[in-house]
Amino acid sequence: METTAAYRARSRREMISESYSGRRHAILNFLPMIVVAGIALYRMDGFTPVVLLMIPLLLFLGNLVIYLVHRFPYHREELSKEAHAAHTILHHGYYTDEHATFDSHRDFFAILLPSWVHYLVAIAVLLPLSWLLPAVMPNAYAQAIVFSGALYLFLYEAVHLSAHLPKGHPLLRLPWLGYMRDFHVTHHDPKLMAEYNFGIVFPFWDWILGTHYRGNGEPVSLASGG
Ligand SMILES: [Zn+2]
Ligand SMILES: [Zn+2]
Repeated sequence: METTAAYRARSRREMISESYSGRRHAILNFLPMIVVAGIALYRMDGFTPVVLLMIPLLLFLGNLVIYLVHRFPYHREELSKEAHAAHTILHHGYYTDEHATFDSHRDFFAILLPSWVHYLVAIAVLLPLSWLLPAVMPNAYAQAIVFSGALYLFLYEAVHLSAHLPKGHPLLRLPWLGYMRDFHVTHHDPKLMAEYNFGIVFPFWDWILGTHYRGNGEPVSLASGG
């Protein structure tokens, strides 16, 4: 079987050009979500207690959406060949629990979503909602939805990148990021990836739905992950 190092070398050769820059990829992905979040904040007419309550609730809901996408199409080939290839084959082939960190920013191509996903979500979904939703609900609530959507996608990329930092990195001293790093590296164990730890930004839905891997001898499903 091909080692992780050999798989990485082959993927770099076949999938990215000499001019690929992971830093540029990250900036291109973060930018549209920062702009959309800024527009939503600008269009919001002040924070009310309801809006302040809505934002964490929407992030909690975003956590469920990403949990479901990760647990099902990303890890079930029969549900989406493309999502499975990008995530289970490429991302998990490139990063395992034993080789969980990127060697340089050029390894971001196997972590970050393609940039077009962020531009499509920004232009075709979030920005139209910022103008359309106020027709059916108070403007502040509409902007809270748009703001939370953009913030969640931003956090998804940022927390996932930080989960592939080397252990001991100063950023991982933040208890949240340190916890999610260990949580996610456990998910990268090929024997566990199809069954456990699907949360990326928060672990809440794994806790609620019983897919949090607790180790200590718990039987490990040998499901192939597709
Ligand atoms: Zn990962
Ligand atoms: Zn996964």
